[in-house]
Amino acid sequence: MFEAAKRKYLESVHLEEFAPRAALIDMDGVLFDSMPNHAKSWVTVFRSLGFHFEDREAYMHEGRTGRGTLEILYRRELHRDPTDEEVTRMYGIKARLFDEMPEAPVMPGAPEALDAIRRSGIDRILVTGSGQRKLLDRLEPYFPGHFSEGRMVTAFDVTQGKPSPEPYLMGLKKAGVGAGQAVVVENAPLGIEAGKAAGIFTVAVNTGILEDEVLTGAGCDVLLHSMAELAEVWPQIASPYRL
Ligand code: CA
Repeated sequence: MFEAAKRKYLESVHLEEFAPRAALIDMDGVLFDSMPNHAKSWVTVFRSLGFHFEDREAYMHEGRTGRGTLEILYRRELHRDPTDEEVTRMYGIKARLFDEMPEAPVMPGAPEALDAIRRSGIDRILVTGSGQRKLLDRLEPYFPGHFSEGRMVTAFDVTQGKPSPEPYLMGLKKAGVGAGQAVVVENAPLGIEAGKAAGIFTVAVNTGILEDEVLTGAGCDVLLHSMAELAEVWPQIASPYRL
């Protein structure tokens, strides 16, 4: 399984061997079903400013830094950049709204997927653009032993959010592996673009409201529909392949 995807991947990055040693795993929409809360928070913030903004757009911007999302919306709606003060204030409101919402549930199948990855002897590295302490602090209780301090890339580590490859390049560095030795697990179009821009084999898991075509259009190597499916097919995804 997935041989065709692996062959196509190796040809596109000019490598001869795909031999995964690390899984670089996104958080929102992958480990926690937190996107509905993020979308609701952003909708409230932008509508308070009189901007036109729907849930769907929050999913399209998923993975960007708060500043990046605010800049795009201010430019579109007000034809100017937000000031630093506005970025701090509006992102502060968004983060507070998110914190006040009911706890986002663990994504169904995520614990099993992480266990399957561990059983295959492959390292788990968290790669998120999020700086939401509430979620980061829940990683250890809900996914014990998977992500220690040195195995996380968060908003506090990077200057550029997804779709920049920076977060995933830093993930490779923390894992101590090259591009052909990792697998990215993502749910969002910009996250997929970031993984691909870093030259990494990228598995998309469509856990949200966007059509499959949006994720395949972003360039993922494999498209799945749940974390339970990832748990099931992980051994096939992680098996090495040579051209
Ligand atoms: Ca995500």
